[in-house]
Amino acid sequence: MSLPAKVVVVGSCNCDLTIRLDHLPREGETVSGGEFSQCFGGKGANQALAALRAGARVDLIGKLGKDRFGEGYQESLTGLGMGTQGLLQDESLPTGLAFILVDRGGKNQIAVAPGANLRLSPEELALLKETLLEARVLLVQLEIPLATVKYALELARERGIRTILDPAPAPLGGLPSDLLSLVDILTPNEAEAEALTGCKVEEPEQIRQVGRRLRSQGVGSVLITLASRGAYLQTATEEEFFPAFRVNAVDSTAAGDAFNGALACALSEGRSLRESVIWASAAGALATTRLGAQPSLPARREIEELLAFRRA
Ligand code: ADP
Repeated sequence: MSLPAKVVVVGSCNCDLTIRLDHLPREGETVSGGEFSQCFGGKGANQALAALRAGARVDLIGKLGKDRFGEGYQESLTGLGMGTQGLLQDESLPTGLAFILVDRGGKNQIAVAPGANLRLSPEELALLKETLLEARVLLVQLEIPLATVKYALELARERGIRTILDPAPAPLGGLPSDLLSLVDILTPNEAEAEALTGCKVEEPEQIRQVGRRLRSQGVGSVLITLASRGAYLQTATEEEFFPAFRVNAVDSTAAGDAFNGALACALSEGRSLRESVIWASAAGALATTRLGAQPSLPARREIEELLAFRRA
C-alpha cells in the first residue's frame, strides 16, 4: 500500500512559558504567588501538529536552539509521529521562547524572543530540499525569515507543489508581489487581511474587495478566516462565504492553526478546495471548544464526527 501524500511545514517552534497570576504586574512591580506551566507553541509547529492530528503525514522544517527546550521539543514532536529530520539546531541562539503572563480575568502580557527561528536561512533550507520536495502541500507562515519563506515557496512552485501561506504575523504595508505570486492559497485572518491591504474587513463587499486586491497582487486564491463568522474564499472563478460550525467556544487560541493544518491535510488527500475549506472550518471550530494551543488541536475522528453531525 502506498503511503499517504505528505504535508511539509516550514516554520517556527517556540516554548511558551506561562505564569498565571491574580493581577498583571505594573511597571517595576513584582507579583508573586503565580502558577507556572510550560507548553510547546510557535505557528509552524502548531500547524504541523494540526495537520498530523487531522490525519496527514507531516514533516516539519524549522530551527531550535541547542538547549533543553529544543531537545524537549524535538523529542515530543518525534514521539507524536512528526517527521523531524528537518529540525535543525542553532549553535549560538536559544530556542524561541514566549513569556506569557495571564491574570484571573484572562488578560495577558506576552513577550517573545524568536531566537533560533530567525536563523533558519535559505542556504540551510537548500540542504533540506529533498524533504521539502516530498510534499504534496507546503504550508508556511511568517515567524521565520521572509527570504526563507520565499525560497520555500519557490522550490515548491518549481515542482508543482500546492502552496499555502498563513501571513501571520502580517507585516504592516503588505507583502511583495513577487512573494505573493508564489502563493496558491493565502489564509489571512481579519486583522492580517486588514494589515496586508489597509482595507477594512467587516461588510461582505469589503471582504470581497480585499480578496480582489490580494489576488491582483498575484495570489491564486484568497481564503480569509472570519472567526465565528466563518471563512470567505475567492478563487479566479468563484467566491463563497462558508458559515462557521456552531460549537460551544471557550478559547479561540489556535483556531487559525487548526484551520490551516486541516486545510493542508485535506488538500494533500486530493479533496477539492471547497471540501477542504469545510474540513478546515470544522477543525477551527473544534479548536475553540478547548483551552490552549496544541492541546486544543482536534483529532481526525472529531473532525469527521462534526462533519457527519452537520450533514445529519
Ligand atoms: P485566527 O486564530 O488565525 O485568528 P480565526 O479566529 O479567524 O483565525 O479562526 C479560524 C477559523 O476557525 C474560522 O475561519 C472559523 O472557521 C473557525 N472558528 C473560529 N472561531 C470560531 C467560533 N467561535 N465558532 C466556530 N468556528 C470558529
